[in-house]
Amino acid sequence: MNQKSYAYGATKSSIRELAAYAAGRKAAIGAENVFDFSLGNPSIPAPDEVRVAIERALTLPSTQLHGYTPAAGLPDVRATIAASLCRRFGDGAAAADGLYLTCGAAACLSICLNALLNPCDEVIVIAPYFPEYRVWIETAGGVCVEVPADEATFEPDVDAIEAAITDRTRAIIVNSPNNPTGAVYSAEVLERLAAVLDAHDVVLIADEPYRELVYGAEVPWIPAIYARTLVCYSYSKSLSLPGERIGWVLVPPAFPDFARMVPAVAGAGRKLGFVCAPALFQRVIAECVDVPANVDAYAENNAALTAILDACGYEYVVPRGAFYLWIRALEPDAQAFSERAKDLELMLVASDSFGVPGWVRAGTCVSRDTIDRSAPAWAALAASYR
Ligand code: PLP
Repeated sequence: MNQKSYAYGATKSSIRELAAYAAGRKAAIGAENVFDFSLGNPSIPAPDEVRVAIERALTLPSTQLHGYTPAAGLPDVRATIAASLCRRFGDGAAAADGLYLTCGAAACLSICLNALLNPCDEVIVIAPYFPEYRVWIETAGGVCVEVPADEATFEPDVDAIEAAITDRTRAIIVNSPNNPTGAVYSAEVLERLAAVLDAHDVVLIADEPYRELVYGAEVPWIPAIYARTLVCYSYSKSLSLPGERIGWVLVPPAFPDFARMVPAVAGAGRKLGFVCAPALFQRVIAECVDVPANVDAYAENNAALTAILDACGYEYVVPRGAFYLWIRALEPDAQAFSERAKDLELMLVASDSFGVPGWVRAGTCVSRDTIDRSAPAWAALAASYR
């Protein structure tokens, strides 16, 4: 067997491991007694438009509904998505032939990395970062280079990124709104970053599954700032459809070498077996492209959990997007802090797997009841350090 694959399968991600532990505790002591903040699984229902679109799709003849689609997705679905992007981000923001539909942001990222990298090429990630980036970069033959975010803002530290660029740097992954910090990168920082990347021909991979999940913040359209950008989008979070595995890669029309990048993306999809994205959900998202994401419940959850944290004296980053709270651990060893929280049935992901020490992540995509019931556990955790 392939030793790397074995290692990835045998070790599991620390997020999944904690979620599995939480599931065991729920079975043992009752779900209401476990405060599971481990996963980024949306807690609000998919909008009604999704159900209506599914029902409409089910009226199609079975062979049409369930048949293979073209590898990149149905032409009319790609045209509908492109038209929506042009309405939102300006004429020329997208064209159907630059869109490749695939299985969520995970497949999008793997496709982009495989489309770009040759052996030992370097990819910069901004720490803290989504842990699977390292897996996807390494399996695409690349080297993951961690560059810490700006300590005060959690936005990219452009000087540090410039210092990390070598003649092997091919790409940088930019995730805004950010998992785990909730930071939304400003146009000003992205413009400074673009100037640095442009000088070295580095491709920016914009990982945007949280684009619509913002609390009043503006999320700049990065291809308008930096042409050498590939956009990865997913409906997992915005439409609460993570199990349906649907999203897309966009090679924007202004991407330099568009004519060769598009086949490289299709070729990476072919190489990885990410062809003909789930047909039913291609049709569903085409009907839901302009359905707004509902962030009210997440905003209320953020307010409820931060009130608890404030009362106990925790330090955290105020999120401008996504559905996580990034909380300073009460000791330097985040793993030890997470273990102590576990003893109080509080499931918090230690920051080490996100590439930084000293913090934990709490997903706020949980029921309001979970947050309210967790208050004594947060208080007991803080008290145990006094
Ligand atoms: N990128 C980030 C930053 C994420 O948080 C996630 C999922 O949590 C993904 C990518 C993968 O998303 P998907 O479910 O669309 O594959």
